[in-house]
Amino acid sequence: MNKADVLIIGAGPTGLFCAHQLGLIGLNCEIVDNLDKAGGQCIELYPDKPIYDIPAVPECTGEELTSNLLKQIKPFNVKFHLNERVEELKKVDNRWNVKTSGNQEFDVASIVIAGGVGSFEPRKFPLKECEKFENNSLFYSIKDKSIFKDKNISIFGGGDSALDWAIELSKTSKVNLIHRRDGFSGAEASVQKVKELSEQGKINLFTKCQIDGVKGQNKVEAVKIKHDEGEIKEFKTDYVLGFFGLIMQLGPILDWGLNIDKKTIEVNTENFETNIKGIFAIGDICSYPGKLKLILSGFHEGALAARGCFKYAKPDEKLRFEFTTTSKAAQERLGVKK
Ligand SMILES: Cc1cc2nc3c(=O)[nH]c(=O)nc-3n(C[C@H](O)[C@H](O)[C@H](O)COP(=O)(O)OP(=O)(O)OC[C@H]3O[C@@H](n4cnc5c(N)ncnc54)[C@H](O)[C@@H]3O)c2cc1C
Repeated sequence: MNKADVLIIGAGPTGLFCAHQLGLIGLNCEIVDNLDKAGGQCIELYPDKPIYDIPAVPECTGEELTSNLLKQIKPFNVKFHLNERVEELKKVDNRWNVKTSGNQEFDVASIVIAGGVGSFEPRKFPLKECEKFENNSLFYSIKDKSIFKDKNISIFGGGDSALDWAIELSKTSKVNLIHRRDGFSGAEASVQKVKELSEQGKINLFTKCQIDGVKGQNKVEAVKIKHDEGEIKEFKTDYVLGFFGLIMQLGPILDWGLNIDKKTIEVNTENFETNIKGIFAIGDICSYPGKLKLILSGFHEGALAARGCFKYAKPDEKLRFEFTTTSKAAQERLGVKK
């Protein structure tokens, strides 16, 4: 059981800055995110794109912003729980008990939901029979490419991930690339490279084809594909990879009894608390009159929510307003006190 003052759901820019604000006022927190890395939309959707409206930072990419936010919270030793989706919520006495998809459990005084547009999840194959092979020989993302060495891999999809992995894995494995259209949506240079590799016989390319079946006992042994004109082909394969992009899901948070309006959580603007005491919502996921879905708004919301969490973590103490320039306590927490 992980015990902390606050659990932050979502390691996007808003959740990360809120962790900083909690640390400054002497509260500890842990962060859960469904992705395998911190940064939310900035890292998942536009890591290389420049952002021009972060206060006092004329220009930085999504990746730079994320790494600076992580650097800023380093003094607080925040514990991250990545690849975990928050599932269940229970009130136990005056605290909250939260469970994740990976059976992690948290006992916290309050919760800050910084879930953005929801947890990013891969779009999956439409066939039910694919489920039983998931994460053993059928994957929607790659964590360790070495398992594919010298194997027979069938990659489905026509975007950048499908093309990049087809190119990469063709160096060490036998690759079939299957796409339901004739044209690809990935970068032109990658499309050209795939065509070259196909001409050289290093990638078996099947277009206008879709998955029609997967066979195997415990692991995938063969895959069936169907051409638009009805022809069915079956071939042996050790692994199936599907790259069809991401969808955003609010998931079980929707069932927590929060006031939800168009997939956002209603909050008050005094401390960004929701209709449930002790549960706060900040960033893209919260709604209130005049809400701007910008990173700078999320920073402000995180600062106020952190202060709102204080009374739940330390009910007998009074929180004093202080500046970092002059607060000895804040400087001590930051490890900068001279
Ligand atoms: C292409 C693009 C360009 C943009 N450019 C700008 C810009 O120039 N300036 C600007 O201010 N804003 C910009 N934005 C908007 C900005 O990225 C968002 O406002 C910001 O990312 C919101 O931050 P957040 O922390 O609230 O949510 P997110 O960044 O969405 O992060 C939320 C995190 O919560 C996780 N999560 C959600 N639900 C769960 C769950 N149940 N369990 C575990 N984890 C969960 C998600 O995996 C995600 O990592 C842009 C957005 C896009 C898509």
